Amino acid sequence: MPENLPEEILRVRESAEQFIDQTIRPLGDADDAKAASQVREASKEAGFFFKTQPVESGGHPASALELTVLRELFAHANLPLTRHVFGPGPGVLHAVEGKLKDEYLAPVLAGEKRGAFGFTEPDSAPRPTWAVLNNGRLTIHGQKSYVTGGATADFVSALVNVEDPEGAKLGTAMIVIDRLSDGLSIEREFSSLDGSSHVAMRFDNVIVAEDHIIGKLGEGLPRALTNIGNVRMMVSAQATGMCLWVLDYIEGHLKAPHRSGSPLGDREGVRLRYADMRMATFAARSMLYRTARLVDSGENSVNETAMTKVFTSETAGNVVDMGVQLFGGQALVDGHPLAKLYREVRALRFVEGASDLLRLNVAKGRLELGKGSV
Ligand SMILES: Cc1cc2nc3c(=O)[nH]c(=O)nc-3n(C[C@H](O)[C@H](O)[C@H](O)COP(=O)(O)OP(=O)(O)OC[C@H]3O[C@@H](n4cnc5c(N)ncnc54)[C@H](O)[C@@H]3O)c2cc1C
Repeated sequence: MPENLPEEILRVRESAEQFIDQTIRPLGDADDAKAASQVREASKEAGFFFKTQPVESGGHPASALELTVLRELFAHANLPLTRHVFGPGPGVLHAVEGKLKDEYLAPVLAGEKRGAFGFTEPDSAPRPTWAVLNNGRLTIHGQKSYVTGGATADFVSALVNVEDPEGAKLGTAMIVIDRLSDGLSIEREFSSLDGSSHVAMRFDNVIVAEDHIIGKLGEGLPRALTNIGNVRMMVSAQATGMCLWVLDYIEGHLKAPHRSGSPLGDREGVRLRYADMRMATFAARSMLYRTARLVDSGENSVNETAMTKVFTSETAGNVVDMGVQLFGGQALVDGHPLAKLYREVRALRFVEGASDLLRLNVAKGRLELGKGSV
């Protein structure tokens, strides 16, 4: 593991390993409601559940480094039930007060309500989603094209451009919109290669009160991007965890008997490929852990988080792909763990920012804003 982790994180990591072996592994691959609830309850008892929840709500939030260690470890286990270990986090509702806290944040953290995130717009939209603010009411119009979990979410937090009745721009806002609001329609339900479910939604004269704005008017884009930064670290840890699982799995395969008479791992050409997988994983993990420490230092880490997400997700794509290649055609048989990972890993290069868009941000951060380290 990346070196010099503090003692307390090493201890948490050890207890997470025990949690996987004693609680999750015995439940196998059955990702049903009963097994999920068993994992959640055990996780509450063990304390992992509260590590993504704020102190004000009774949580014990972990540092970025600790979360990275744990998320990578759970992804390394490659067991579907690990996704129930952490309790729901606040996401874009972070630090809201008043009505949004009582009616949305608190139920979300208690697992009683679920929100979705509406950011991506369809290419066909005449203009990005907008709202007219008049006498304390927002009238929202527009579309969001890729809202994960949007069919069953209780509400969507959507990025909206707000203007006054005369059309003067007032700024961006993240606005909480109940899914069952009049004027909100689900235009299309679809699932993606990785197996997750999404909707395209439309807002036609959806009216919500002004106090549904998260934070202040004008803070929409920075708020959305702060949330995205946290999720980029999560995606990155998931990516390196995938790499670790593939390395273990392929190591076993390269040492096993092969029909040619000697293990595949005896061949130099195979060793070269395997070494590349290990080197790329080493580099990705080094980057991830360095960035986690930077996030914890409180310094601006927008650039580094974007770089890490691009590098780790692309590395995971390459490592899984080469894992499939070295394993052979059986890796693509339905139900094979590598086939499942192959489908899952592709989405990581899009979620929370497509790779090339983030590359542009990294260059802009340096050339126009003077930000970013190497
Ligand atoms: C599994 C999954 C879950 C998702 N969940 C959500 C969600 O919950 N909420 C949400 O809002 N969105 C969600 N998304 C959407 C995701 O955020 C977008 O797919 C991503 O931001 C890319 O946007 P796009 O698909 O519109 O592609 P585009 O922006 O059209 O980009 C397509 C490609 O064009 C190129 N490109 C585009 N612009 C430029 C440029 N300026 N310069 C150079 N090259 C460029 C790049 O190669 C890019 O990959 C999800 C996507 C996936 C795959």
